[in-house]
Amino acid sequence: MSEVIQYNPATGDVLGTVPEASPDQIRAAMTRARAAFPIWRATPLPERLAFLRKLRLLLVEQAHGIAEEIAAATGKIRGEALSAEVLVVADAIHYYERHAETFLARQRVATPILFFGNRSYIQYQPLGVVGVISPWNFPFQLAMIPVISALIAGNAVLLKPSEVTPFVGTLMERLFKESGFPEGVVQVLHGGRDVGAGLTAARPDKIFFTGSVATGKKIIAAAAEHLIPVDLELGGKDPMIVLADADLDRAVNGALWGAFTNAGQVCMSVERVYVERPIYDEFVRRVTAGARSLRLGEDVGSMTFPPQLALVEEHLRDAVEKGARIECGGTAAKAGTLYFHPTVLTGVDHSMKIMRDETFGPVLPILPFDTVEEAVALANDSEFGLNASVWTSDLAKAERIAAQLVSGNVCINEVISTVANPHLPFGGVKQSGIGSYHGPGGLHTFSHRTSVMLNKGKKKREVNWFPYTAEQERAFHTIIRLLFGTSRRATLADIRNLIGQVLGKDSKDSRPAGQAGPNGKEHTS
Ligand code: NAD
Repeated sequence: MSEVIQYNPATGDVLGTVPEASPDQIRAAMTRARAAFPIWRATPLPERLAFLRKLRLLLVEQAHGIAEEIAAATGKIRGEALSAEVLVVADAIHYYERHAETFLARQRVATPILFFGNRSYIQYQPLGVVGVISPWNFPFQLAMIPVISALIAGNAVLLKPSEVTPFVGTLMERLFKESGFPEGVVQVLHGGRDVGAGLTAARPDKIFFTGSVATGKKIIAAAAEHLIPVDLELGGKDPMIVLADADLDRAVNGALWGAFTNAGQVCMSVERVYVERPIYDEFVRRVTAGARSLRLGEDVGSMTFPPQLALVEEHLRDAVEKGARIECGGTAAKAGTLYFHPTVLTGVDHSMKIMRDETFGPVLPILPFDTVEEAVALANDSEFGLNASVWTSDLAKAERIAAQLVSGNVCINEVISTVANPHLPFGGVKQSGIGSYHGPGGLHTFSHRTSVMLNKGKKKREVNWFPYTAEQERAFHTIIRLLFGTSRRATLADIRNLIGQVLGKDSKDSRPAGQAGPNGKEHTS
């Protein structure tokens, strides 16, 4: 039996191993999920929410221990695990506890006059078994929020957490168990890419994937074979635009946190900064001093995944070879661990990997600009479109710039924070992904919509049914003219005919269609 190893990246220690799910175990889990689904979907929403409430209370009760376990498995600072993992998940559950009934309620919509007397509404139904595949950088939040959203919407869930942080997978499994979810409703499949591919091949009714662009493409290709719908939450290369009138202290502090929190391994990290030329030198000076003052292990955690550190070094090498200057950092720290010194880079341009590809490490490249148009063009010159930020004291100008950025999220004098507001949809554009979650759409993405049109069934026929008659055609002409034309006029006879047809009254002198002209007059030809 294969196993996945859990390291403590901050110390290099092996913490333990977790057995990988075999193909038979994946199939058996799918069978259990399929059996659990009809019972779970039939469980009234308030009862489903009661399980989620229990989970939330467990998170609150065990917050410190959970944060410690996540910190040990990822190398992140415990406070970051507490705020960006435990707190946001508790907030997401609490948000849906308060709003899920409204979001999933039958939604009444208007009905056109042609169908007078009918009622129309949209009903949200669960999809079935949802597969959630999640990454290692926020291994708790990025698994838990899609899982709880899918569960609330009435689906059974199979979760495949990242093999880089398997102890976070076992932690989540334990929490679901302690919350008392019924057998088969939520199951965790531990393991790496083969287990992920096995989950896709087991044909869930939806796949919700968070991870790299390369894996996202593989998953959507495999899912296409069976027309399985897929949501993809992928990488980013988020730009930060700092105008000369920005509050410099706030912009500097925002850049430092946005680039170095979670050791830069945030899909919405600040990955490139554009600063208006009059304040460029001062901004670089202050950011460099700030980066130097950050303490490894206290402010900046270790990186999590060894190949990621190698990628950061490769991006830096490429940038320096092409003329970039390292203002501070640039090297790994503490041998045997994955700590990397916060790094500030100048003299960069868009020919460098560090300005084009996702770096996903504690590196902050800075480039000056002269005009807002140039800054917007530079920000949009990317394959990615996850988040962006604009910094200025002129809020109207900031909003105008925000509207020109091709990005799923924009922060103004803020950074990363859109993802932490459960009311806002979260998702990327361009190579950053397909689909979104959080907010009302976070439940709708795990539902299919059924459009229902209801008639009381008292009329013998509808206006558009057989047999086709001249009066019916005349009624269509009247509707088209009245509702969609510029001259909204009709004769009294036209209106009477229209009302009669819509109410389903049989006309006494029904004639076959084609024998009457658009105004009810006889054709002369
Ligand atoms: P990854 O793509 O390497 O792995 C993600 C998950 O996919 C893991 O669970 C992995 O085991 C699984 N997987 C790998 N190959 C698979 C296959 N062929 N079929 C099915 N599953 C497979 O990503 P990662 O390195 O864990 O995460 C980092 C990436 O995630 C970064 O690019 C980052 O930007 C992105 N990310 C995006 C968001 C977002 O919300 N947009 C959030 C966090 C991270």
